[in-house]
Amino acid sequence: MLNAVHGPDRFPVDVERLAVEYSSNVFPNDPITKIVPRDFPDFDGILRKGNGQGEGWRIGYSTRITSRGRIRFTIAHEFGHYLVHRLKYPDGVSCTPEDLAIWDSEYNRVEAEANLFAASLLMPLDAFRRAIPDSMDATFSDLNEVARQFGVSLTAATLRWLGYTQKRALLVVSKDDFVLWSKPSRPALRSGAFIRTAGLSPKAVPPASPIRCNPNYADIDDPVRHRPGIWLNEEVLEYPLVIDQYELGMSLLLLQNASPVAEIDEEPVEDAFDHFMKPNQR
Ligand SMILES: [Zn+2]
Repeated sequence: MLNAVHGPDRFPVDVERLAVEYSSNVFPNDPITKIVPRDFPDFDGILRKGNGQGEGWRIGYSTRITSRGRIRFTIAHEFGHYLVHRLKYPDGVSCTPEDLAIWDSEYNRVEAEANLFAASLLMPLDAFRRAIPDSMDATFSDLNEVARQFGVSLTAATLRWLGYTQKRALLVVSKDDFVLWSKPSRPALRSGAFIRTAGLSPKAVPPASPIRCNPNYADIDDPVRHRPGIWLNEEVLEYPLVIDQYELGMSLLLLQNASPVAEIDEEPVEDAFDHFMKPNQR
C-alpha cells in the first residue's frame, strides 16, 4: 500500500506521521493521538490508552535513547502493538530494551510480532533486498550504509539481513566480554553453526576476538580470520564493532558458504518471521 502511494523511493519512512495519520483514518474512534519522549527508568517504549474520553492512544519512548534509528524502531514497534495487540492488552504494553532487541519468538511471541512489524514497516523486504541481495556477503560497512538509508540502527539492519540471506552468517552481541545473545542466518542455523545462550552459563568472547577487552575497537573494515575452534568448529571471518554508547560488542561472523557439517535433520523452531508471513511470501 505504501509503495503504491509513495513509490519505491520512500525511505526512511516517516513513522510518527504514518502512525498518527493511519490510525486516525482507519480507527477514527480509537486513534494514536500522541508520540512523546518520556523519562522511563526501565522501558524503551510504552503504548497506553489516554484516561479521558476520546483521548486515544499514546506512544512513549525513552529519553535515554539517543539514536534516531532506535527511536524510530521503538515507535514502529509500539505502532505494531497498537495494530496487533491493543484489543488483547487494553491497558497497553511496556517494552524493555531486551524486548526490542531480541527478535526470536522463543523469547516472547508478542514482542517478536511487534519487532517483525517494525522491521517490515521500516525495512520492507522488497526494498531491503534491492539494497543487499540474498547472495551478497554483507559487512558492517555495507549494513551501516543501508541502516542510514532506511533510518534504522545497525543492529536492526543486520538482523533484517540475517532473516533472509542465503549466506551463512551470525551476529554476536556481547557485554563485558560475555555473549549476551546471538542470531544466525537460516543457512547457518541449518548447518549447525550457531551459539546457544538461553539457559546456559554465560559464554565468554574468545580471547582471539578483537572485541575482547577492547572497548574502543571500532575499525569495522578490518576483519579478522579465525581458525576452527575459536568461535565455531570451522573457520570464521569476524567483523568486530564496539558501540561505546551502549558498551556493547558486536561481531559479525561470516562463514564459508559450503556447509562443513551434515545438515541437522530436525526442522528449526519456527520463528516470528515464519509465523507472520504467508507461505507464498516466504
Ligand atoms: Zn513491545
